[in-house]
Amino acid sequence: MSHRFVHENRPGRVVFAAGARARLREEIDRLGLHRLIVVCTPGHAGLAAELAAPLGERIAGLHPHATMHVPAAVAAKAVARARETGADGCLAIGGGSAIGLAKAVAKDTGLPIAAVPTTYAGSEMTPIWGLTADGRKTTGRDPRVLPSVVVYDPELTTTLPPALSVTSGMNALAHAAEALYAPDGSPIHTLVAAESARALADALPRVAADPHDTDARSDALYGAWLAGSVLGATTMSLHHKLCHILGGTFDLPHAETHTAVLPHVLAFNLPAAPAARTALETALGTTEPASHLFHLAQGLGADMSLTALGMPEDGVETVVSQALAAPYANPRPITEAAIRHLLGRALSGAAPA
Ligand code: NAD
Repeated sequence: MSHRFVHENRPGRVVFAAGARARLREEIDRLGLHRLIVVCTPGHAGLAAELAAPLGERIAGLHPHATMHVPAAVAAKAVARARETGADGCLAIGGGSAIGLAKAVAKDTGLPIAAVPTTYAGSEMTPIWGLTADGRKTTGRDPRVLPSVVVYDPELTTTLPPALSVTSGMNALAHAAEALYAPDGSPIHTLVAAESARALADALPRVAADPHDTDARSDALYGAWLAGSVLGATTMSLHHKLCHILGGTFDLPHAETHTAVLPHVLAFNLPAAPAARTALETALGTTEPASHLFHLAQGLGADMSLTALGMPEDGVETVVSQALAAPYANPRPITEAAIRHLLGRALSGAAPA
């Protein structure tokens, strides 16, 4: 095989262990931060206060107002609060919504981020920010939004409900799957993505069977970390494009949408991406990765219908026109017929074909 690639390592420190939250103060000291604004979703205010308590006077304020897809108005308020409090850093506790809000703050203020992820979304490992305004989600890359330190504590994920654990894990698997056929992949990214898919597919049934199984939680979070790192390092394709449009336009739930769409995009793309197909077959232990993932998620209780997730039937036209509007990387040429076909199946929750 003749290798040809560009590989770049990203800065950023990762601390991973059951109970790693106890090291937060040490990690904040290591960064030399003295006045942190803590961001989280409203439901995580209690957890954020608990994790922030040992940081004492280093906490400048708690801002529990993160919501999904980072609405521009929510971002503006968080930026204002960070400025008012004179914060010198931002501590994000929670899933992609909390980390997304911290990124919005970092993008405008340059404040460094310390992240304590509690889902499998993987945003903490990427320099990608997102903002939603007027029903459209905009994303971009900025090295300033990549967290300076990420503290992964699998014990913090045991409260993630089984259904959301499964869909969040599938969200991570989608990063790994699309990294396997990314136009800017590298041998390291391929190894990482394949290991991520293996770890997640192995861990999710165990997590669903016993959400308090800390070994299963550790394996799932490990897979999610790997998935986040390849998400941040490579260019995603059709699957992420479609989910981005669906989330931004219809405000569909992020992880659930990824779960319903992924098998259909893989059924379309894998015939044109033989190396990715082989890697996924090996990682998942199947000759039919798309169908395997559909039945894995469905069998663990995920809702595989976009209609059930809230997508209107007449929304197909909007998605088709947005998906075809700007060219982007994909292993297989994207046609209107292909998008209609796979969206149709995802709307009804049919198996990929
Ligand atoms: P989320 O952060 O909105 O979390 C979903 C819900 O679960 C929230 O109500 C949250 O409070 C709750 N929750 C989170 N962790 C929990 C836990 N351990 N126990 C109990 N409840 C918990 O959802 P998400 O799927 O993590 O993130 C989705 C958002 O992240 C989207 O806006 C997406 O666009 C963004 N995202 C961005 C990137 C990136 O690289 N920029 C990557 C992935 C996702």
